[in-house]
Amino acid sequence: MTATPSTAPGIAPAAGASTDFGTLPLPPATLENLQRLGYTAMTPIQAATLPLTLAGHDLIAQAKTGSGKTAAFALALLANLNPRRFAVQSLVLCPTRELADQVTQELRRLARAEDHIKILTLCGGSTMRPQLASLEHGAHIVVGTPGRILDHLERGSLDLQALNTLVLDEADRMLDMGFFDDIATVAKQCPAQRQTLLFSATYPEGIAKLSARFLREPKEVKLLSTH
Ligand code: ADP
Ligand code: MG
Repeated sequence: MTATPSTAPGIAPAAGASTDFGTLPLPPATLENLQRLGYTAMTPIQAATLPLTLAGHDLIAQAKTGSGKTAAFALALLANLNPRRFAVQSLVLCPTRELADQVTQELRRLARAEDHIKILTLCGGSTMRPQLASLEHGAHIVVGTPGRILDHLERGSLDLQALNTLVLDEADRMLDMGFFDDIATVAKQCPAQRQTLLFSATYPEGIAKLSARFLREPKEVKLLSTH
């Protein structure tokens, strides 16, 4: 385990859990890809959550901004993905377009090029027509804001029947923005047989409510750092 110098800036290695990506049940091509990206060691939130999520558990994870939460859920949802099945298998809900774009970028970096994973970003504020056209061509992963995702579900332009992973990223911010009902309506349209991963920087009351309604026996990971 050679962790400290290679983790993201300001991130200390986890105590206890291994920070070696090689200890995870990930395909060799994914491990090579991580090395190419310079991800030589897991950040603490990745080390604490990936063994749980890759084993199929639902998850509530609390960790501060910049701790590497995106790759934590990205590697989990990519592990559930069948590239040969051209249907939406993962949905990531984010509070803002900016965050959705960041998640999409990180997913593009982490997906193996040979798998040709198609990722669509669907956010409010963008015109509908190009989104509808993109959806007609299909996608493996959709990243978007709750209101626009709900809009597509109501129009019938987005089908979540093949979904196996639902991610609620920055769930506390989505709640602050008043998205509880939209998230609830979207989650109800997802297949019951799925993995649900909730990431948040803080733990307000609404998070427990979301978790109780939409997660199944979730594992809880809280990394409260002082810096
Ligand atoms: P968060 O969502 O927790 O705010 P991000 O997922 O945006 O954090 O990650 C913060 C930065 O750390 C990003 O630039 C990302 O590329 C980088 N990063 C994430 N995981 C690793 C890792 N294991 N090794 C090196 N850099 C990483
Ligand atoms: Mg994030």
